[in-house]
Amino acid sequence: MISIKDLLLGQLAVEKGLVTQAQLSEVMKEQQDGKVDPNATVSPTNSKAARPLGTILLSKGMIKEQDLVALLEEQSRRLESVKTCQKMQKVEYLFGQLLVKYNLATMLQINKCLEIQLKMAEKGVTPIPRLGELLVEHGFVDKKTVADVLKMQDKDVLFCTGCGRQYNVVGLEEGKAYKCKECGGVMLKRALLESLKADETTFGFEMPTEER
Ligand SMILES: [Zn+2]
Repeated sequence: MISIKDLLLGQLAVEKGLVTQAQLSEVMKEQQDGKVDPNATVSPTNSKAARPLGTILLSKGMIKEQDLVALLEEQSRRLESVKTCQKMQKVEYLFGQLLVKYNLATMLQINKCLEIQLKMAEKGVTPIPRLGELLVEHGFVDKKTVADVLKMQDKDVLFCTGCGRQYNVVGLEEGKAYKCKECGGVMLKRALLESLKADETTFGFEMPTEER
């Protein structure tokens, strides 16, 4: 298995013109075959652990140390952006489900757009377009439908920013803070979520993180 970290790092090295796609494929193949480093001290219990791609590129002289430092920095920025995107998608998914429920879009179309969002996050695009925008852009749904469904979703529904559950709240009070019954996450209205763009400085800020 190639880790997402290595995939990203390799993609970045190609983007920056440090290696060609062909060179990268070659090195990754070697990495998977485990024939890359004759000097590696591989313990029998640990024989499946592949060396990090960055280390391999460095030891082969394909990149310099300062390249690796820059690549690793960009890699962690993008991993962060992927994480943020995945959190955002918990909510986007519910919006998608609603479209499917009313036969306004297919699950295939929703999944395609969610996949595009993730790809964009991997490429470091900010902010990530919302699912509604992407569905319109691809001609799957028209603008009015997106607006209507968002409005419908916003009425008395709160979304948990932690686990993505949605709740119908009877007699919703404006300005009152609601917490998720399941995970204790902060509950927000759709409109609030909409105003938060998918970069870590704004969207991530509202998110209770499981990792920390
Ligand atoms: Zn929750």
